[in-house]
Amino acid sequence: MPQATTTTHPTMCLKHGDFHVMDSDCWDVTLDWYFSSQHLNDQASRDAYLAAVERQMLDNLIRNR
Ligand SMILES: [Zn+2]
Repeated sequence: MPQATTTTHPTMCLKHGDFHVMDSDCWDVTLDWYFSSQHLNDQASRDAYLAAVERQMLDNLIRNR
């Protein structure tokens, strides 16, 4: 699971498909994602999360073209 919402370190953000210091909206999306992936083990959920963020990044690139 990610650290508490008080962190000031940049984190891979699923909501924005970006690497930044996340606000509470970002954490809502991320924690929802982890909640829905509880059937995965730690490593698998981390890998799947990064894959989901990468997909979001690609979506952003396509949309901003
Ligand atoms: Zn964000």
